[in-house]
Amino acid sequence: MGTSTAKDRGKRRIIEKVRVIDPSRGLDASGHLVCEGGKILSCGEGPAPAELITPEAERIDASGLVLAPGFQDVHVHFREPGQEDKETIATGSAAAAAGGFTDVATMPNTTPVVDTAGAVRLILDRAREAGHCRVHPIGAISMGLAGEKMAEYADLVDAGAVGFSDDGRPVADGGLMRRAMDYSRILGVPMISHPEDLSLSAGGVMHEGAWSTRLGLRGIPYAAETAFIARDIELCRLTGARLHVCHVSSRQAVQLIRRAKEDGLPVTAETAPHFLDLSDADCADYDPRFKMNPPLRTIDDQEALIEALQDGTLDCIATDHAPHTATEKNRPFAEAPFGVIGLETSFAVCHDRLVRRGGMSLSRLIELMSGGGARILGLPKASLDAGAPSDFTLLDCEETWTPRGRDFASKGRNCPWLGRSLTGRVVATHLGGSFSFVRSSRLAESARA
Ligand SMILES: [Zn+2]
Repeated sequence: MGTSTAKDRGKRRIIEKVRVIDPSRGLDASGHLVCEGGKILSCGEGPAPAELITPEAERIDASGLVLAPGFQDVHVHFREPGQEDKETIATGSAAAAAGGFTDVATMPNTTPVVDTAGAVRLILDRAREAGHCRVHPIGAISMGLAGEKMAEYADLVDAGAVGFSDDGRPVADGGLMRRAMDYSRILGVPMISHPEDLSLSAGGVMHEGAWSTRLGLRGIPYAAETAFIARDIELCRLTGARLHVCHVSSRQAVQLIRRAKEDGLPVTAETAPHFLDLSDADCADYDPRFKMNPPLRTIDDQEALIEALQDGTLDCIATDHAPHTATEKNRPFAEAPFGVIGLETSFAVCHDRLVRRGGMSLSRLIELMSGGGARILGLPKASLDAGAPSDFTLLDCEETWTPRGRDFASKGRNCPWLGRSLTGRVVATHLGGSFSFVRSSRLAESARA
């Protein structure tokens, strides 16, 4: 299973006795899925229709597992081209498959920057060669992310870019952002904002508050995030362009987005697993695995973010998967680069924190992990309905495990949850006609049963 021949790839596969959760249909029931040739033939409550059960079909007894649409992550960094020692499109997309993802969108802050049609095509080609998941490139707002000259948006969209972002190097010039949003409205693609006022965050390495004072580390104030979100929301109001706000980290930021949505503005927003499970107190040991940008905020912010995921103020969970080499990341806290990996632990962390300990329904979590692509970037809708692509993930919500660096498909080891026990794990991921990931022991067990 997993390593599939051409014949395997199109074959009929029947997943039985599984708990099927398809938020697109409000479905959560014990049921089945039948797929063939990359398409779902039937998925719903109860056993598979008898007429679809053919003798050559592969039958998998998935008792005890959950079957959900493939996860979609609108915010990852695969570092290729330019920093292949941190991650490549092949290793990053293998990590995505291991995390239950079938679609990811890559940020343009590579070397060179993704600001030309050629750069967009390179990413699409490498992703296709690797074959672990679909990769959707996000183009740069400005050439070289220098914040001066706009990229050729129409060319980038023609080549396959699904949006534009300044992630990592925010556009300080409001006038440029306004013109960029005028163009993006015409093209119908979102502007994806990394909200950070660099003059307010300069020199900061963690959240500015009681913990930064106690640890003697320079802080990044809330205002570095909120001042920028307020500006971009006003530009959204002015231009009518769609705005997506990256990695929302604070209560005040949530309030700005909630008000913008109440005003009917076309604003969407994401938050990341680390903001839901960790806080600035986790920086107490000066461990750089807890250093990211925006920084871990307080428990009060964590609560506001979870509430916002429940009530729809936040649209999705995105990992901001940001691999670094061990040499770079293992420097003293103040000098280490920002960023953590997240693709292979996202479901476990979110399931453990939001469902097991936080009272969220599993169906809502799955919606937050799979619905972002269509809603924000216009990707195909995550659905398990007959006729949809057979993109799905199998989950074990009972398994408790401890992430270890050597088990990751990602090159990155900069994971805050190493050595921490988590409940909930991805067992397999199916992309089109075949499995893109199989945690062999668990599924082999089911197949034998
Ligand atoms: Zn960012």
